[in-house]
Amino acid sequence: MKILVAFSGGKDSQASLIWAVDKFGIKNVSAVFCDTGWEHQWTYNHVVSICKKMGVPLVELSSKKYKGMVGLATSKKRFPSTKARFCTEELKTKPMIDYVLDEVKDHCMIIQGIRADESKNRSLMAQQCTYFKYYFQPYDDNQRKLERLEVKKNLSPKEVAKKVILLKRIAMGKLDPVYFSYRKRDVIAFCKTFADEVFRPVFDWTGQQVMQYILENGQKPNPLYYQGYSRVGCFPCVMCTHSELRIMLENDPEYIDRVRDAEQFVGRTFFPPNYVPNRYASKTDVKSGKRINSIDDVVRYISDKNATGELFPEEKDTDRRCMSFYGICE
Ligand code: SF4
Repeated sequence: MKILVAFSGGKDSQASLIWAVDKFGIKNVSAVFCDTGWEHQWTYNHVVSICKKMGVPLVELSSKKYKGMVGLATSKKRFPSTKARFCTEELKTKPMIDYVLDEVKDHCMIIQGIRADESKNRSLMAQQCTYFKYYFQPYDDNQRKLERLEVKKNLSPKEVAKKVILLKRIAMGKLDPVYFSYRKRDVIAFCKTFADEVFRPVFDWTGQQVMQYILENGQKPNPLYYQGYSRVGCFPCVMCTHSELRIMLENDPEYIDRVRDAEQFVGRTFFPPNYVPNRYASKTDVKSGKRINSIDDVVRYISDKNATGELFPEEKDTDRRCMSFYGICE
């Protein structure tokens, strides 16, 4: 059986890699890194150096269809967003599926550094399951869509209309289950012959425990954590917070420039409308009439708020104690 650790360069996947080597032995483990073309250089260096240090083979994957984040956004004529997170599917999930189907062709166990306390969605995942399970059981249906709408406080007219349709479909006994379909025929053939186990060794761990485990094993986490970033990955991620951007502005301004270049190349803004208050948004989208914010608008907002000290009291507090979100500076 091949043991494949999905290694992103973040702390959770690094701890999972250490755990996998300890459990299954170095000769059975490979690290798999999905390159979005949008990472910090330190992350690329960290992934290579950890694998080299541990003696673990590193498999680097990227999308065959899109040239990284910018190529994807150019092709889709927009950047991904929290509501349309096609980046994960196109730049990470599909390259990994292609790799398993076309190159692994063997029983495999995929080790993922996912923790339950990262988000509600993640807490609903299982510690152990199969990689292709959503080809055989639905990952969504009308009932779940309705439940998601019902927990929202103020529904937009579009959402109200959607709710009415969902209620009607459910009343008719139609659940409209949704399955993964990418290369479905190949996946079904693979699963007839090979195992596709998934195990998440740090599922019940806290972020602090993960850091401790890495340090206790004589390794250091991605140096970005020492600068105060609480997570690493795409730099920036389409879901990054204002405080993460503030750190980026202070420490990595060249990556702000990269976002500006990408916006100009793609002809769209990186962050969605309303990412900053409308008074900072310098343009209006012709089609939707919504105010849109370029990276320069976002930078202006963050600089103003940071200058007045209104926005980030908790981060300022943290800065005094330790640069790292996880207290790893000491
Ligand atoms: S880290 Fe963020 S930007 Fe990158 S693939 Fe994941 S969701 Fe998309």
